[in-house]
Amino acid sequence: MKHRTHTLHTARLNNNCPTCFGTDGLEITFTQEEKETPFFKKPATQIDEKLYCHTCKNNIYPVNWTEDIERVFDYNKKIAETNKQYLKVKPLFYILTVVAIVLFAAVVYILIPKI
Ligand SMILES: [Zn+2]
Repeated sequence: MKHRTHTLHTARLNNNCPTCFGTDGLEITFTQEEKETPFFKKPATQIDEKLYCHTCKNNIYPVNWTEDIERVFDYNKKIAETNKQYLKVKPLFYILTVVAIVLFAAVVYILIPKI
């Protein structure tokens, strides 16, 4: 099984960085993990978020967020939610389903006594 991480949404914030007080370094990233099998892609239900400051090269953890950052975070999280990935069934799944139905029909046809 393969694991992949999708970036759903990134945004540059104009807020002050709680660490270096710079106003142009903050970037928020929303990601979602995805498991891939031969039959389908199954994304995690949870979205992970990360706030990073390009000026001081630090991850800013929620404990250090200001009210303003939280407000912008909530706004961007809504955008990320709309980009969220859902369960995707691959063509192989459909092919196997069709093959299974055809086989079942054939078996039923053979087993049912002919009138
Ligand atoms: Zn900073």
